[in-house]
Amino acid sequence: MEEKNVEDHKISFSCPVCAHKTDYPVTHLMEGAILSCPFCKLTLKLHGHMWQDVLKEIRKVTGKA
Ligand SMILES: [Zn+2]
Repeated sequence: MEEKNVEDHKISFSCPVCAHKTDYPVTHLMEGAILSCPFCKLTLKLHGHMWQDVLKEIRKVTGKA
């Protein structure tokens, strides 16, 4: 199967504190979502320009405008 479900798409998100990348399923990523870094245990809320960057990635992988 070449076609993947949107739910299977993952976005790499770089932690602003420790710079480790964590993959999150796109379904978990929405404005105001709470992300937690498994490396430094930072939790942050996805909003503002950070959210805009993630949104760009989401559109890239899902192919949605
Ligand atoms: Zn971190």
